[in-house]
Amino acid sequence: MALSRGKGSLTVAIDGPAAAGKSTVSRAAAERLGLTYVDTGAMYRALTLRGLRTGVDPEDARALADLASTMEIRFEPAARPGGTQRVFLDGEDVTREIRTREVDVAVSPVSRHAEVRERFRDLQRRMALGGGVVMEGRDIGSVVLPDADIKIYLDAEFDCRVCRRYREFSAKGYRPRKEEVRRDMACRDLLDSSRQTAPLTVARGAIRIDTTHMTLEEVVNAVVKVCQERGVRS
Ligand code: C5P
Repeated sequence: MALSRGKGSLTVAIDGPAAAGKSTVSRAAAERLGLTYVDTGAMYRALTLRGLRTGVDPEDARALADLASTMEIRFEPAARPGGTQRVFLDGEDVTREIRTREVDVAVSPVSRHAEVRERFRDLQRRMALGGGVVMEGRDIGSVVLPDADIKIYLDAEFDCRVCRRYREFSAKGYRPRKEEVRRDMACRDLLDSSRQTAPLTVARGAIRIDTTHMTLEEVVNAVVKVCQERGVRS
């Protein structure tokens, strides 16, 4: 069914597990559709980085929620098409720091706390208030924006996701062992999908896309097509 609202007011929710291609696909689709891209994983990663730096116990939900309330997170769009969006934490560019293995391993224990999620949920809803956004994460279609106009769940087979993450780390000059990447990802999958508050799940009404055997361009085309079929014009 085509939507009659202008694209400026539309919200697109994209969820899925780690390394399913969400960030790259969401950013590219948003660019093509003229919508604003919001990476909610970067918010949890930035909080985790701040927690690690200040030595906050990852079990201390209240202290983490306080950190989340006082931190200032800002996104700066990529300077050129296809480029990386910059992430600023309290004015510091932490784009690279939030993607290290240390943060990868620590982020799920931090993001499982209800108090933390509440803070970010409200902030994310405010960011999507005027519409015109592609918001990407784990609980966007299910909890943050349950009334999103378009919901997509991106998935891929586990081994494929491990390979993608391994290649990503290698391209950045990190030298993890593939077994470590496999173990970290299995652990993150389990924590993200089994936590009590807002676990990773396929939201009601979401269109599921298995990206295992698709190229990046094919996935972006598929997402853009779904949005266009629902009335978003690029
Ligand atoms: O998407 P990305 O892999 O960068 O997310 C990092 C982590 O942040 C996830 O593993 C998850 O623990 C948390 N997250 C979340 N809810 C979201 C987005 C991310 O719990 N909406």
